Amino acid sequence: MVKVNENYLKLKAGYLFPEIARRVKAFQEINPGAPLIRLGIGDVTEPLPEACRLAMKTAIDDMGRHEDFHGYGPEQGYAWLREAIARHDFQARGCAITAEEIFVSDGSKCDSSNILDILGEENRIAVTDPVYPVYVDSNVMAGRTGDADGQGQYGGLTYLPITAANGFVAPLPSTPVDLIYLCFPNNPTGAGASRAHLQQWVDYARSHGSLILFDAAYEAFIQDPDLPHSIYEIEGARECAIEFRSFSKNAGFTGTRCAFTVVPRGLMGQSSTAEPVELWGLWNRRQCTKFNGVSYVVQRGAEAVYSAEGQVQIKALINFYMENAAIIRRELTAAGFEVYGGEQAPYVWLKTPAGTDSWGFFDQLLSRAHVVGTPGSGFGAAGEGYFRLSAFNSRANVNEAMSRLRALGT
Ligand SMILES: *Cc1c(COP(=O)(O)O)cnc(C)c1O
Repeated sequence: MVKVNENYLKLKAGYLFPEIARRVKAFQEINPGAPLIRLGIGDVTEPLPEACRLAMKTAIDDMGRHEDFHGYGPEQGYAWLREAIARHDFQARGCAITAEEIFVSDGSKCDSSNILDILGEENRIAVTDPVYPVYVDSNVMAGRTGDADGQGQYGGLTYLPITAANGFVAPLPSTPVDLIYLCFPNNPTGAGASRAHLQQWVDYARSHGSLILFDAAYEAFIQDPDLPHSIYEIEGARECAIEFRSFSKNAGFTGTRCAFTVVPRGLMGQSSTAEPVELWGLWNRRQCTKFNGVSYVVQRGAEAVYSAEGQVQIKALINFYMENAAIIRRELTAAGFEVYGGEQAPYVWLKTPAGTDSWGFFDQLLSRAHVVGTPGSGFGAAGEGYFRLSAFNSRANVNEAMSRLRALGT
């Protein structure tokens, strides 16, 4: 019999969303026709910006003419998209990132998992708690953790709790780590990170020879002009950080698929014999071998995000979701909840009422308000006692969900 990768047998996750689905299904069987509102999923709801759709239609017509047809593109992405990204997302903010350092891909979920291909197995890994489950599970699958304990925490990982007590910023680890996953603005807590906080991490990484894997999928949602949008706005970050970006949330590309990863030239790791090795070359080699690029049509759609019309349209999209977040924050606060997040990211993170744990609150909200959210404990042990509501929904659904919550009282 063929042997399986036993690391998959250690996985606890795949637990959160299937468990939500199971409870919702059970509820619906008893209460058929109850008007459910789902504020649980991290997926966008608004249509693609017109600029992106028009650019993709034109690109489809290109594909119908011999002279404009595109077969395999460069594995790293087309130069015109990489240049637009480097100019608008980095150089315009004072970051010295060049087109050559941008690797276009079909998603930052895949990139943040695939990056492990080029990193050694002996690296000590730190994640925040709560955390985007992909960072943890991809390490489990790659055999870089031990087994999970009763709380779902894996042996060998360093968990950095982010809670109200520390203002939802990741504390520096007390034992040295080599690889640090940071996501700001944060999913699930909705917290932003200040320049000073990120500077602490960059200083830590430089003095310990560590690598920061910085997930900036939500940078476009930042409202505070003092918060950095990229880790490369921080002095020294080119020497110690890889950044993941995506068109999924800012431009509604969750179903269209386009993202990119920034690997600065001169960012070094080392071999077991302490020889310095440039990570750019390894990632380039990895992509050329295992990836054949994002479709021409989709890359044209992504390029349109940077057009004048595209910029206006994505700002309107982001404002729409952030107004939803403001409504959720305001209504929950008025109802007496302790509310966090929702100001720099489309997620509101609330404290569950005293005496009710995350899943208890999930059940109450489902049965009494017919609203589905996400239990904080599903993102990690330190998420217990918290609950995530997503601002990705129609205005009507958000208003209706909030009026049901108001009617509940606390
Ligand atoms: C939505 C999201 C992404 C984007 O993933 P894609 O694969 O590009 O759609 C990345 N990181 C986090 C934390 C997210 O929530």
